[in-house]
Formats: sequence, structure tokens, C-alpha cells
Amino acid sequence: MKTFIIGHKCPDTDSIMSALVMANLEKNFCNTNEIIPCRLGNLNKETEYILNYFNIEAPKLIDSVAGADEVILVDHNSFLESAPDISDAKISKVVDHHRIANIETSEPLFYMSEPVGCTCTILYELYRMNNVTIDKTYAGLMLSAIISDSLLFKSPTCTPKDVKAAEELAKIADIDINTYGLEMLKAGTDLSSFTANELINIDCKEFNANGAKFQISQVNTVDIDSVLKSKSEIEMVINSLISEKGLDLFMFVITDILNCNSKAIVLGNKSSVVEKVYNTTIDDNVAFLPGVVSRKKQIVPKITDNI
Ligand code: MG
Ligand code: MG
Ligand code: MG
Repeated sequence: MKTFIIGHKCPDTDSIMSALVMANLEKNFCNTNEIIPCRLGNLNKETEYILNYFNIEAPKLIDSVAGADEVILVDHNSFLESAPDISDAKISKVVDHHRIANIETSEPLFYMSEPVGCTCTILYELYRMNNVTIDKTYAGLMLSAIISDSLLFKSPTCTPKDVKAAEELAKIADIDINTYGLEMLKAGTDLSSFTANELINIDCKEFNANGAKFQISQVNTVDIDSVLKSKSEIEMVINSLISEKGLDLFMFVITDILNCNSKAIVLGNKSSVVEKVYNTTIDDNVAFLPGVVSRKKQIVPKITDNI
């Protein structure tokens, strides 16, 4: 029997690490099944840095869950963010930290969700609950995901549970959180080799609310203006996506991870929603969002409620 474990499309560090960490846990429960950690897209630079650091192979790249007897979803639940044929699959488990939307299963399942900053924080609890030993490498992978999702504990999504898990994992992994964490986050801000189209797809999510369709893409940087140098190319790609997919709004959020601010390129017929909810003006398609770093906590709920 084959079990695929997948994180969301445009995988971030948490989606990749959670697939690996969950696969390692599942192997403790059942050694007759074939447990295959998978990914639905390319690795970002930060994730590449981590996998090299710990010398771990990336999950298997797939574009369909056909061939899996069961699928485990990590770091997402929405079918919009999952494999295109996910509605045909048997989902046996979900471990996630997002709002629940656009998911329906035909059978009962194991579902573990908590409003914490990272899926790997929940996986850490699952290891503890099941008395499964965490080795140095897997501790490092989980720690990396927590640092990534919480932006080294600076994101408003970060909870005391995330901090505690990270501290315990850092001890097991024998890693200095701040030194390693900054190196790792900086590796992810090297955007120099990406085309406008690739930039938008590093971390892009799609949403439906009140009959409107919108996408919010996010990149991390230490220099917002260097990303904005490609503004006109980025706008061209966004505008073609808007007409192709019939989107009402597209936000390309460029987040300064050192100063914890963002600027967003905002396009679409519902752009004024952004002006309204952040009480700001969009100047030449760009809105400044002071203090905004978390799409999950500071952007999606506001847009969803007001679009
Ligand atoms: Mg994620
Ligand atoms: Mg996550
Ligand atoms: Mg993320």
C-alpha cells in the first residue's frame, strides 16, 4: 500500500519539512506501507539551503496523487492548494495550522490542527505524544520549519508553543537558533536568479470568498526596492494571470524580514479593498503595509472579510 504525504503547491520550507518529518513518524507506525514524502513544486532557496545543511534528499516531485492508496496532507487542507486530483484521493490524515476551507472527504480521518505558527510544531507534539525519538537531523528539519514560518519568532503567528518546541529541538539538534536561523532566512532572500513569473510563483496562494477570486503571493527579502526593480515585468505577469484566471485581486507581497514591513503590488478590479482594510493609498499599484509580515494572520482574514 502506498501513502503519499504532501504539503501545499508552491511549497515553502514548512510544507517540505512537514512531509519529511511526517513520513519519518509514519514509518514508526507501519512498516509494511510504502510511505513517500512528496512535493507539488520546486524548492525555494531557503529550503535548498536546509536540505543541503542536513544532507537530506528532497521529497519526490509529483503533479498528481494518482497511484497513491492514501494521501496525508500537511501544512494545508484546502483543495485549491493541493494536487489537482486530490478530490479523487482517499485522505487518511491532515496535520495543519491553517483555517479550514475547501476540503471534503468521503471517509472519516485523523485531523490535527492547532492555531500555532508552524505545522512542524504540531508534528513535534505528535512525536512526543507517541513517544517517538527525534534524532538530530529531524530535530534540525523541524526547527528550520519553525524558524521559517515564524520569521525567527517575529511573526504575529508565532505562539509560545512554537518558541518552546524550537528551543527543545535546537537542543537536540545542537544548533544555535539565531546564528543558524539568520543564515537560513537570508539564503531564502536571494531572488536574483528568478524571472518575474518565477518570483510570483515562489509562494502563491489562491482564495475564493464572497464570490470573488484572489491570489496572494509573497516573497521574503532584505531589500524591498531591489525586488521592485522588476516591477513592470511583475505587473505584466500578474495582469495576464488576472485575465487568464478571472481574478478580482492579486497581491504580490514583498516582505522585509529584518524590519518586518511589506510593500505589495496590488492589481485587479477589487484593489480598493486593500486601501480600505489597511487605511492606505495605492500609489502606482504599490501599497505600503507597515508591520505586515504574515499573509495568514494579517492579510487573508482582512481581505476575505471585505472583498
Ligand atoms: Mg506553508
Ligand atoms: Mg506552515
Ligand atoms: Mg508561509
